[in-house]
Amino acid sequence: METTKQLPKTIKLFKFARKEASLHGNYRIGAMPRISEIARNTEDRIKVDLSFYLENDKTPCIKGIINANIILDCQRCLEAFPVDLKVNFNLAFVKYEDQAEGLDSSFEVYVIGEEEDLDSIDLITDEILLSIPMAPSHDFDCSLKIDEEEIVEEIRKNPFDILKNIKMADFGKEK
Ligand SMILES: [Zn+2]
Repeated sequence: METTKQLPKTIKLFKFARKEASLHGNYRIGAMPRISEIARNTEDRIKVDLSFYLENDKTPCIKGIINANIILDCQRCLEAFPVDLKVNFNLAFVKYEDQAEGLDSSFEVYVIGEEEDLDSIDLITDEILLSIPMAPSHDFDCSLKIDEEEIVEEIRKNPFDILKNIKMADFGKEK
């Protein structure tokens, strides 16, 4: 009966882990500030399933899946670049770094000190951003169109060089 409860705004890490809660979230991309900065489809939704548990009877962990289709800008041609994300993760939260020693390598370890509350949207946003390519660009050659525009841009960036050339030309005329 615990399976389809809604993920609240704030995660109570130890409480949820002790209860082995399974929580579900469904967010509009526009409700996630750091994602909506880079996404074109802010009306589309991101689906999240999180299962909480204690590893070794003491370390709170979250096993989760995020499903999202996010449309980014191609960094080369600036056209739409859709990314279909299915992010699986297994997070462990420790107070100090040395507590991570007993955990196997399948865990992403977060050191949180005395913190027990986590912001749900922040956590999900971090996992999404980790899975998104740093410089998204089409895997075909989409660069041809932009080349000329880039050259024009380059000239605009150096107004002083242009000014220098004009002055030199005037000087040449006077002589
Ligand atoms: Zn492109």
